Amino acid sequence: MTKIHQNLIDGAWIGTEGTENINPSNTAEVVGLYARATAAETHDAIAAAKAAFSAWSRSGILERHAILRKTADEILARKLELGELLSREEGKTLAEGIGEVTRASQIFDFFAGEVLRLAGDVLPSVRPGVGVEITREAVGVIGIITPWNFPIAIPSWKIAPALAYGNTVVIKPADLVPGSTWAIVDILVRAGLPKGVLNLVMGKGSVVGQAMIESRDVSAISFTGSVVTGKRIAAASIEHNRKFQLEMGGKNPVIVLDDANLSVAVESVAQSAFFSTGQRCTASSRVIVTEGIHDKFVEALAERARGLRVGDALSKDTDIGPVVDQSQLTQDMDYIAIGQSEGAKLVAGGNRVQKDKDGFFLQPALFTEATNSMRISREEIFGPIASVIRVKDYEEAIAMANDTEFGLSAGIVTTSLKYATHFKRNSEAGMVMVNVPTAGVDFHVPFGGRKGSSFGPREQGKYAAEFFTVVKTAYTAAG
Ligand code: NAD
Repeated sequence: MTKIHQNLIDGAWIGTEGTENINPSNTAEVVGLYARATAAETHDAIAAAKAAFSAWSRSGILERHAILRKTADEILARKLELGELLSREEGKTLAEGIGEVTRASQIFDFFAGEVLRLAGDVLPSVRPGVGVEITREAVGVIGIITPWNFPIAIPSWKIAPALAYGNTVVIKPADLVPGSTWAIVDILVRAGLPKGVLNLVMGKGSVVGQAMIESRDVSAISFTGSVVTGKRIAAASIEHNRKFQLEMGGKNPVIVLDDANLSVAVESVAQSAFFSTGQRCTASSRVIVTEGIHDKFVEALAERARGLRVGDALSKDTDIGPVVDQSQLTQDMDYIAIGQSEGAKLVAGGNRVQKDKDGFFLQPALFTEATNSMRISREEIFGPIASVIRVKDYEEAIAMANDTEFGLSAGIVTTSLKYATHFKRNSEAGMVMVNVPTAGVDFHVPFGGRKGSSFGPREQGKYAAEFFTVVKTAYTAAG
């Protein structure tokens, strides 16, 4: 009988029935069976996390450091196996899957170090003989809700700081990709986490996620996913007067100026628009190009897009894996049709690719003659689809880059220090890239956006402490 990967509630693995997790490179292949939690089980998980909080938040820093370090080591030692699991459930190529697993290990390693570095401030009070200490304490039970596109990195960059700073956790991964999160939870438990400190509830957003956001016992919610769900979480969190952090969509621009190095421009746009099948919140989907370089850039990028080998995520000849599932593929195809009906010109790809095995394969699509008011330039598609918009000069380009409701990542390709400097200062995005792809932020630096892309403190690096701790101000006078 196939093993059922169960939910973890209060230290016990629970669940007798599993739902199949399907490989998008081969829809006949079942990756594994994963339990689905009920709302009542979700409440049990929250109660367990609440009960475990007092002891864990006062636990010794060496214990927390050791568990996170051990987790980092095991993830790294198993990077090939976990990378393969990730690629089989999500569809990114094996190289990308292994890269993401490596990053998860680096994140746990970083936060193992942060456990030992948590410091406060000591200030003199305005009253003589009175001292003031400012310290950071754990928040409580953290509800973590994650999307499908980074099945191991995103859960890791939320779980690691939550545990490092002494919080307890209930995590709900996206129902399309429970396998990678299950693997990390299993590793953390075997690394020595006490029962109840980390609880895993897999299943539907409308059941498990909804139960989490409605619970008064969840002290903070860290969410990555779509704008629609993010807004629902914000409303429920305000109702419960709890902390929340949202990382949502993007419509990331990249500007290519006349003075750009052509091959740097083509590689950096191809990488961030099409790799990982374009299923990255930091993918560039609006390519804003000045007149002088426009035609030769478009020709070279279209050739690069046509040459990208689409196929099975695990094949070593594959550059671009499949789209994650049928519903995302339908959305991608709909937007390709919308782009054409709006008057943009499809110059490369956009067609389904047939392989030996049935999968959701799509050749990366490139539009030209797009305008910034078209739906394909304003709405997040979340697929391997980019549109080129022609502009006169840098001034028109930056105005257009900022003309969006989102503000996650933005890039420019130029050899001009003047324009690079101006762009870094005036871009309305949270992350700005000069001559590098808009996607691909290191594990130890802050990650997050502005405007409609994000809400709340940054994730990753030492900035994560802002969300996963609360500040206390304490006065002491000689008694
Ligand atoms: P989604 O919003 O559909 O789902 C995200 C998570 O929320 C899933 O676990 C889902 O089950 C859960 N959920 C759904 N309904 C819920 C409810 N009513 N209550 C509580 N939880 C609920 O998003 P998705 O399709 O999984 O992910 C794609 C989206 O994620 C894209 O918009 C993308 O831009 C975004 N994303 C953003 C970032 C970032 O850092 N800004 C990173 C990766 C992905």
